[in-house]
Amino acid sequence: MGKYILDTREELAYIVLMKPPKTLQDAIVYFSDPQRAFDYAVKLRWPTGKVRCPRCNSAKNYFIKTRRLWLCRGCDKQFTIKVGTIFEDSPLGMDKWMAAFWMLCNCKNGISSMEVHRALGITQKSAWFMLQRIRLALQDDFFGKKLGSGPDSEVEVDETFIGGKARNMHKDRRAKLTGRIDDDKAVVVGFMERGGQVRTQIVTRRRKYNMQPLVREQVQAGAAIYTDALKSYIGLDDDYKHGVIDHAVEYVHGRVHTNTLENFWSLVKRGLHGTYVSVEPYHLYRYLDEQMFRFNNRKNMDDGQRFELGMSQVFGKRLTYSELTGKSDAPHHPETGTGEAEAPF
Ligand SMILES: [Zn+2]
Repeated sequence: MGKYILDTREELAYIVLMKPPKTLQDAIVYFSDPQRAFDYAVKLRWPTGKVRCPRCNSAKNYFIKTRRLWLCRGCDKQFTIKVGTIFEDSPLGMDKWMAAFWMLCNCKNGISSMEVHRALGITQKSAWFMLQRIRLALQDDFFGKKLGSGPDSEVEVDETFIGGKARNMHKDRRAKLTGRIDDDKAVVVGFMERGGQVRTQIVTRRRKYNMQPLVREQVQAGAAIYTDALKSYIGLDDDYKHGVIDHAVEYVHGRVHTNTLENFWSLVKRGLHGTYVSVEPYHLYRYLDEQMFRFNNRKNMDDGQRFELGMSQVFGKRLTYSELTGKSDAPHHPETGTGEAEAPF
């Protein structure tokens, strides 16, 4: 068993004295020290201090301090902190990763690859790839958790159209009423628990047969649900307290409305049309994952805690450039030119 990283008094004192970052500026300073960035990631990945091989899970290893990597006795291979995480094979240093991560977790409207390119001095292509990997980390599969489980839960259900050439709210609203959707638009269904969390799902059709199973999958039977007058929602009354707001007549009727979800859609669209230059439909769900992460973790948490939560989700996930784009030419790092070669940070 090799020595653990906190093996000198000086390093230990350093960590204790340096408070965790609270602002982006703090974070940039804090993580600009490679050793500190490394220690932070190790502590997050192996909180008990027991380092396990991401390939074979063996706890028998030897830490090579000068190279910040471990030699596994189980499979006889080396591993870095990046192996088995969204950072795997990235030539970018953790200082850059941490800064981008912080921005995406905490900027209300998100950040574009152009902004990251300028802020961190990497190519826009690298920045884009980086952001897509971070979005993967922020993804929540909501496994086994349903909305509307509380005694007086109210869940708004609504769809919106994203993308396409005509970005006209009135046209979108009319399309919702008539049911005619432009082919170039993606349809996203949202579920918003008032005072709670939001979930989204991209769908190809807004028919009863595909919409209702989604509602049942996401919302606990017995909860109050509020929808517009779309015919696909007819028949949910048996399992839910279903309030319908007919948008051809009015937008609010007592507690029955979908305005909370409308506000979330505005946030999403502001991010997509303003900050993000363009989004291919194929990548849309990643932007939704990102928006949901920020929205669902907006309360009872400061920026530092939100960042830490996001960072705690980087392990056990991987996204390669070819998986993302179908192309094999991964972006190269301009400073080192090392491409996607494995490099410990
Ligand atoms: Zn191993």
